[in-house]
Amino acid sequence: MTERRLTVAAALAQARARGVALLDARLLLGRLLGASPTWLIAHDEICLDAEVASHWAEDLERRAGGEPLAYLLGQKEFRGLLLDVTPATLIPRPETELLVDWADALLGGSAGCDVVDLGTGCGAIALAVKQAHPQARVVATDASPAALAVAQGNARRLSLLVEFIVASWWQGLEGRLFDLVLSNPPYVREDDPALDALRHEPTAALTPGGDGLGALAAIIGGAAAHLNADGWLVLEHGFDQAEPVRELLRKAGFAAIETRRDLAGHARAAAGQRAVP
Ligand code: GLN
Repeated sequence: MTERRLTVAAALAQARARGVALLDARLLLGRLLGASPTWLIAHDEICLDAEVASHWAEDLERRAGGEPLAYLLGQKEFRGLLLDVTPATLIPRPETELLVDWADALLGGSAGCDVVDLGTGCGAIALAVKQAHPQARVVATDASPAALAVAQGNARRLSLLVEFIVASWWQGLEGRLFDLVLSNPPYVREDDPALDALRHEPTAALTPGGDGLGALAAIIGGAAAHLNADGWLVLEHGFDQAEPVRELLRKAGFAAIETRRDLAGHARAAAGQRAVP
């Protein structure tokens, strides 16, 4: 039996039959063909060669199995930056832009501030801040050398100068002082059923275990020793963690404590200023 070559239209029909969204399918096929999704619309009679067809079958299988589109494409956009992502890094979320907006407002026009992004993953926060504030000296840390390598690659490709350090929260940053500390740490509860849908992303980037507050507590607990006078700490947290995070900030002696909501209306980030006695 001779098999007919697969056309773009037939390939997209296969995706539909597997429950893969049309836009996802167009982006995946476009990547394989080196073409834009719009080009595909105008060329749906083109035949896929054998190699593309086999990659397509693989992509379809993985996407239908729940693998995030960003890992299949190897990229995710964050605040206008196209970032490489791999399964070693969390996929940047739109709600994390709230943290960068907050950092933006705090940095204002100030020149030469020292900023750190703890647990940078693919580098999203650190790179977005550096992009918006070229004068800031930005440090990005991660406990995972594999994640840090992805972040470093992004910095190089985007020509953004950031210092990368392998560190586990404050361990590895001894003696370093900052004006602004930012972090989107793992904060999902260990028994949160939502973790199942996130199973393709690194567990260590999603949950610190237990009640989900361990990493936030470690960061808040050690922050005062790493903040310059009047320095700020800004953290992302879970939608139901606003009160415990404010309590941790209070206990650590922070002033001007504030919680902000993300675009979905969830309390999503908190900040405090180092109170100088
Ligand atoms: N916001 C992520 C989610 O989708 C969690 C990221 C994190 O733990 N920092 O739940």
